[in-house]
Formats: sequence, structure tokens, C-alpha cells
Amino acid sequence: MWSDREVGRRYGAGVSATEDQHLIIGAGPLGLAVAKALKEQRVPYRHVEATDHVGGNWAHGVYETAHIISSRKTTQYPDFPMPESYPDFPSGAQMRAYYEDFTDAHALRAAIEFERAVTSVRPRSDELWDVDFGDGTSAVHKGVVVCNGHHWAKRFPPWVAQFEGEVLHSKDYKRPAQLEGKRVLVLGGGNSGCDLASEAARVSSSADWSLRRGYWFMPKTLFGVPSIELMNPYAPMWLQRLVMRLLIRLSIGKYADYGLPHPTHRMFDAHPTINSEVFHYLQHGRLRPRPDVVSIDGSTIAFTDGASAEYDAVVCATGYDLAFPFLPEGLVPVDDKVAQLYGGMLRPDYRHLYIFGAYQVRYGIGPVIRPGALAIAHLAKLQDELPMPLGWLLKEMGSKPPTSHLIGPFETIRALERVVKWVPALRRMGKRYSSRWTAQEREVAARRLQPLTNADEVTTV
Ligand SMILES: Cc1cc2nc3c(=O)[nH]c(=O)nc-3n(C[C@H](O)[C@H](O)[C@H](O)COP(=O)(O)OP(=O)(O)OC[C@H]3O[C@@H](n4cnc5c(N)ncnc54)[C@H](O)[C@@H]3O)c2cc1C
Repeated sequence: MWSDREVGRRYGAGVSATEDQHLIIGAGPLGLAVAKALKEQRVPYRHVEATDHVGGNWAHGVYETAHIISSRKTTQYPDFPMPESYPDFPSGAQMRAYYEDFTDAHALRAAIEFERAVTSVRPRSDELWDVDFGDGTSAVHKGVVVCNGHHWAKRFPPWVAQFEGEVLHSKDYKRPAQLEGKRVLVLGGGNSGCDLASEAARVSSSADWSLRRGYWFMPKTLFGVPSIELMNPYAPMWLQRLVMRLLIRLSIGKYADYGLPHPTHRMFDAHPTINSEVFHYLQHGRLRPRPDVVSIDGSTIAFTDGASAEYDAVVCATGYDLAFPFLPEGLVPVDDKVAQLYGGMLRPDYRHLYIFGAYQVRYGIGPVIRPGALAIAHLAKLQDELPMPLGWLLKEMGSKPPTSHLIGPFETIRALERVVKWVPALRRMGKRYSSRWTAQEREVAARRLQPLTNADEVTTV
């Protein structure tokens, strides 16, 4: 390892000697699991977190009344079960305490630099990474593991700016007092949309719920068990769909009987919505279903069925964009919400860049995190031995980026576990393909890096 002085001479003053370390960005559930895996596998790392706490979304991104939507068993790390005293659907506060416990149980806290936000990550032609932080410091890192989460870049419907009342994104909703006594319209039928529609039904003076399309709403529990735990993960998808349709019909009935549109997409082709509460409030008349919005006039909103109503507040549970604001634009292409990553994590043009968490797991995230983090640790060691980017090797071997941002947990777990098992085979393939990673190929890659290394030309998303 070079001394600070040597690093300063090569890369400029104020740059620290971190070029043999991978930088983990974020100390949410994924970043913490990566830190544990790198530590176990003795891969040197540095860990930064923008806020002053661990737990990510569960510590700062959810409302006070939030409970997990997936169940305890499908959300916990497989190597660190949640306490037996936890309910099937722990609260946001319990989730935060769980990630705090995980951090301390594996002695990860001392290595986390809190309140250090990454503002820029740029590849260098010598295959290291230039990193800038919000506090004005910079560093050169060997690699970067991006775990910045996918629930923060708020998406709004384009018309909402015309609404003259209060506009709130679900991300900014924290407590019922924000809705109390107001005429509220909630937009969106995802998991947050259902939570906030139910919250509005409880505390607002009136609660309407606008859906642009039909959703497959699944009951949260069936026969006293979290419904996602009843699904047989090894059954073919058509059978899972058939069984779930039957169970929905038995427990909920027809969506049309609640005034809700029937979905036009196949179940599991979009992120499933798991909620039983909205049906309770729809049946009690506390929540009124509305179709899509057609026009706005001041604080009056008109819907596609010709009805209109006046509102004090619109709550947009309209989702999030996938964003890596610190990476140069285009470095991770995103095609219709799907990040173009080989092996779900790698780009073909860069060594030691790992994007973890760009896809959404259909159920709970827990079981996928551990094999994903272990795969990163093993790939980081393997990458040291091979000249070509591992993403390039996977591409040459015929691998393709996922075609949807939604991934099934069980096939993903199996694929990630295979990565670790196949490290010796990948090493052999790397050696066999080394003649294809020619000087010409390297030159093209180096040229591609040129504009990105020029700070003036970097545009962030
Ligand atoms: C209302 C709600 C309910 C949910 N319910 C479930 C559920 O039931 N089950 C489930 O599996 N998932 C659920 N999710 C998804 C949940 O967010 C993820 O499971 C989990 O938090 C993802 O972990 P992560 O580490 O990828 O991201 P996050 O938890 O978002 O953590 C990312 C971390 O990176 C940090 N960071 C970001 N940018 C930078 C930067 N530039 N520099 C330094 N640090 C940075 C952030 O501060 C944050 O701490 C829910 C999400 C929401 C919004």
C-alpha cells in the first residue's frame, strides 16, 4: 500500500491512501450485510453512511405507524434471525432495533463513517475510483459497492403541480397528524398507497383513493399465517398464480364488489400489493374508491368516471425512480426501470463496481441479502486475479441483464449461491477468455473512461 504522500503525489493533494479498499456506500440492510461479508472474507473495505444511524429506510424512511409488509421470516437475514418475541409483522421501530443489533453483534459500527455522504464516484483510466464526499474530502478507492437504496427518489404524477392544496409524497408522510381533519385523496395502489389510504380512512375527515389501474391485492394473512409464507417457492409460477387467485377469491371476493378495477396484468408481473386493511375501510364506507384523475381546477379534482371532488391534500404514493446521483450519467444504464447489470450487479466496462439492490424482490428482502453480499465478497477477490471486468466475462459467456426490475426471491438466491460455487469455474473461464480481452478491447474501455474522468463533463443524474 502506498503512503499518503505517495498517493498525494500521484493523485493530487488531499487524497487519502484508500486505494486498496472497497468503499461501501450506505449502511442500510444491504450495506450492513456487505460489510459483514467483506469482513468475513478479509476483503479490505471502508464504509460510509450519509445519516447518523444504521438501518437505512427503516430508520429514516418510513412513517411512525409502518409495519413490514413481507413477514418476519421472509425479511430477516437468514444468518441472524429476528427475536422470537417479534410479531409476524414487526414495526418500523422494531426493524430499526434489529439492524442496530445486527451491526453490534458483528462489530460493524466502529468501521462506519456516519454523516459522510458520497457526492461523486468517477472511474479512472488506471481502474481505480475517484470519490468525493459532501464534507469536501476525497479519496481514491480500489472498488465501490453501491448500496444506496431504491426508495428515496420520489416520483410524482405530472399534473400534481396544478393542484392548489397540499401535496405530500408517501416518503414525506411521517405521522397521522399530517392527515387529521383533512379531505384527503391518496394516489396509488402499491403497498404504501394501501397503508396511507387506510391511515387516511382512520384519521381524515374524508378519504378517497384513486387507482389508475387494477392491482392484485393479496391478503396479509391467510389461515392465521402470513400469506407469502404459504406460497410454495418451488412450485411453478403458473401454479403459484392459480393458488393465489383461488385464495384471493375465497378471502377477499371480487375486487369489483369493492368498486376496484380488476387488474389487466398477470399476477406477479408487477410488485404484489399485500394488504387486508383497505377492504375493511372500503366496506365501512370510510374509504371511497376513485378511478384515474383526468383534470385539476384549483383544489377540485375530476376523475375519468365524470365525478369530481374538492380536497385539502393529495398524498402521492406513486413510487420511486432508481437513481445513482453520484455516478456519471449513463455509467449504469437504466432501461424502463431495469438497471442493465450483468449477474444483476456488474457492468461489463468497469472492474470493481458492484451495484447491490437495483432490483426489487417480490417478497421480503432478507433471504436474498446474505447470498448477494457473499457473492460480492467472493467476486471482489476473484476480480483481483483477472484482468478483465467480471461483468465483461459474464457478458462474453452469454449472460444478459435481467429483463424486469422485479425478481423472484428463490431463483435469485439460487443464482447468487451458484456465483460462490462457480468461482473456480469463473477463474478458469477468465483465463480462457483472456485472449479476447485484447489490447484493442482495453483501449476501447480506456477511451470510454476519458470523458468520465474529466470533472467538467460529468453530469450526475
Ligand atoms: C413504506 C415501506 C415499506 C417497506 N416494506 C418492506 C417490507 O415489508 N419488506 C421488505 O423486504 N422491504 C420493504 N421495503 C423496502 C425497504 O426499503 C428495503 O427492504 C430495504 O430498506 C432496502 O435496504 P437498502 O440497504 O438497499 O436501502 P436503504 O434501506 O434505503 O438504505 C440505504 C442507505 O444508504 C444511505 N445512502 C444513500 N445515498 C448515500 C450516499 N450518497 N452516501 C452515503 N450514504 C448514502 C442512506 O442514508 C441509507 O441509510 C419497504 C419500503 C418502504 C418505503
